[in-house]
Amino acid sequence: MTELMKAIRVERLGPPDVMQLQDVPVPQPGPGEVRLRVEAVGINFADALAVAGEYLTRTRLPYTPGMEFAGIVDALGEGVQGVQPGQRVAALGGSGALAHYATVNAAGLIPVPQTLSAAQAAAFPVSYFTAYHGLKTLGRGQAGEWVLVQAAAGALGTASVQLAKALGLQVIALASTEEKLEIARRLGADVTLLQDDPERVQKVREAAGGKGVPLILEVVGGKRFQESLDMAAHRGRVIVIGNASREQAGLRPVELMKRNLTVTGLWLTSLMSDRDATAEAAQVLGQLVASGQVVPQVGPTYALADSARAFQDLLDRKTTGKVIIEPGR
Ligand code: NDP
Repeated sequence: MTELMKAIRVERLGPPDVMQLQDVPVPQPGPGEVRLRVEAVGINFADALAVAGEYLTRTRLPYTPGMEFAGIVDALGEGVQGVQPGQRVAALGGSGALAHYATVNAAGLIPVPQTLSAAQAAAFPVSYFTAYHGLKTLGRGQAGEWVLVQAAAGALGTASVQLAKALGLQVIALASTEEKLEIARRLGADVTLLQDDPERVQKVREAAGGKGVPLILEVVGGKRFQESLDMAAHRGRVIVIGNASREQAGLRPVELMKRNLTVTGLWLTSLMSDRDATAEAAQVLGQLVASGQVVPQVGPTYALADSARAFQDLLDRKTTGKVIIEPGR
């Protein structure tokens, strides 16, 4: 008889309440795959965009969301080596984690220090690898340089603030509320500003020595993208990582010429296939997490049945740190 488990299923695209809790068969690991008993799932803005059908790739229906998770190795598919049943690992797959069990290609397993809780392990891969690539691989940030971090109390934002400080950069943090700015300060941000401060462009430029910011991690998009260009220093690097506003942004290439600006896109999914960049990020991040210099920031946690509410809270900007869903709860 087929064993059943609870899982979130999406049968049509839309707002978070299209997600339904259903009974589905427990997945079997295919060749090269590992099955985990899912303990914690990290929810990313991208998950909500995928459910809405607004992500960079087409969402194929029906499906179970959840790309980033941590759990206990439960079963190994043919040919898998180097991992033991009973071991806790983090995993980065395409989808399927909002369930009691999920399979992932063994290449998507990410070793994490055993000192991390399941929720911390699930909060780690997407935000910290993205922050590393934004600050170093593509951003080429140097110790002593200023970096601007938007949505600084969010999952990527808290990772970016911590990592930037650990790498010796100086951080200007933007966020929408005083409570969120306090979180950024606690993580080491040197200057914090409300993102709706009417004088934000001038204040950011002044904070970075009056010359603008050499490195900007841009995640809001829309009209804020133009502001990022205005905040950038001569020869500044603007790394486009997200579009949380879900608005269109314009770009006049001539403006880049005038101040020798560089605008670079960053998509973690495609960077993960760059073995050298991934290995370098894994090595630096592994050391910083093991030594406790960076600590994945766990935000609100929800039961599997409350997944729609978790997604809606994330979209409504009510959350800080990484939103976590615990299927075993
Ligand atoms: P967060 O935890 O940061 O939550 C999103 C935050 O975006 C909100 O808390 C809010 O912070 C901010 N925001 C600004 N404007 C809006 C708006 N109009 N509506 C909703 N939120 C807004 O989520 P993630 O860490 O998962 O993602 C942050 C951004 O980084 C997203 O744009 C995401 O797509 C992107 N990302 C991209 C990756 C890539 O590979 N390119 C990988 C990881 C993340 P505040 O209230 O302080 O403004």
